[in-house]
Amino acid sequence: MNTKVWLVDNTDNLSTSFTHITEAAHFLQHNEVVAFPTETVYGLGGNATSTDAVDKIFNAKGRPGDNPLIVHISNVSQLNALVTDVPSVAEKLMDAFWPGPLTIIFQAKDGAVSDRVTAGLSTVAIRMPDHPVALALIEESGLPLAAPSANLSGKPSPTTAQHVFEDLNGRIAGIVDGGPTGVGLESTVVDCTEVIPTILRPGGVTKVQIEEVVGRVGIDPAIKSAHEAPKSPGMKYTHYAPKAPLFIVEGTTDFLQMLVDQEKAEGKKVGVLATTETVPRYKADVVLSCGSREDLSSIAQNLYDSLRRFDHENIDIILSETFPATGVGEAIMNRLEKAAGFQKISEK
Ligand code: AMP
Ligand code: MG
Repeated sequence: MNTKVWLVDNTDNLSTSFTHITEAAHFLQHNEVVAFPTETVYGLGGNATSTDAVDKIFNAKGRPGDNPLIVHISNVSQLNALVTDVPSVAEKLMDAFWPGPLTIIFQAKDGAVSDRVTAGLSTVAIRMPDHPVALALIEESGLPLAAPSANLSGKPSPTTAQHVFEDLNGRIAGIVDGGPTGVGLESTVVDCTEVIPTILRPGGVTKVQIEEVVGRVGIDPAIKSAHEAPKSPGMKYTHYAPKAPLFIVEGTTDFLQMLVDQEKAEGKKVGVLATTETVPRYKADVVLSCGSREDLSSIAQNLYDSLRRFDHENIDIILSETFPATGVGEAIMNRLEKAAGFQKISEK
């Protein structure tokens, strides 16, 4: 399959690029799948009401069929057709965070989307992305779009069109290139089908921000542990993983350098994932900064790109610093732990 690339300029209200959006929307209406930028990561969109389109998403990604997809909408008026009920907590969260990086789980209306979208669950995950290209594409297509991240299953999510191209060229109908994404990590997933809302996946909206709007929120214990069964089916899979084994190192930069030296003595090519503040302290084959400790959002933005860069350098082992698990740091550490398969080396 020939994968088309549409370069769009989103600095001018899309006025010069609208024909590209229209063409991409046309593909979606014909049940082809198209990658597009959102404020979190690039998504791989398809008509959520068509099993044919949704099958194409799962096949292109090699995604396990029991991992349900998030449905993307551009207007709250689309919600009625998709869900049986909008609880008041969900309404508050929508008012506060939509459009934005928050996915809400609702009770699904029977038959509203393909069963493959919900993986047969009675609930459906919905979000409204905060990106002009994503919103225009959904609007133009007139469809709810099922859209997981536009990467091969298991790999780090794409934060540029180039990342999507590396993984999915020849496997999908097209890629709308709207430049690098903003947040850099996926949306927060909140289950609003219970009395107390529960965070199933940390992401672009933090727990504290959610609590400010709805009071008490729960957290699925599986987020913190490799041993609990998660409520969000996709959380059980290895995710975001670079090719080389990744270890999270808890300790000083001297300790991390000592580990580098040990691996090098065994003839390994070693990569270090550090920050602008700490890069000068390491000597290894490849030392990458994923951002500044003073600004965790910069680390969120660059994390996946850094993990993909190690793949290009044919590194044998990656040693990563840890980051403060506060604010968006919760999501950063969650993705890093999953990328590392929860492997850690502690100084003490
Ligand atoms: P991705 O599309 O790769 O960002 O992953 C979507 C995430 O949302 C996965 O972790 C899914 O398991 C989760 N998800 C989607 N639909 C549901 C649902 N109905 N209930 C619980 N989790 C869901
Ligand atoms: Mg994904």
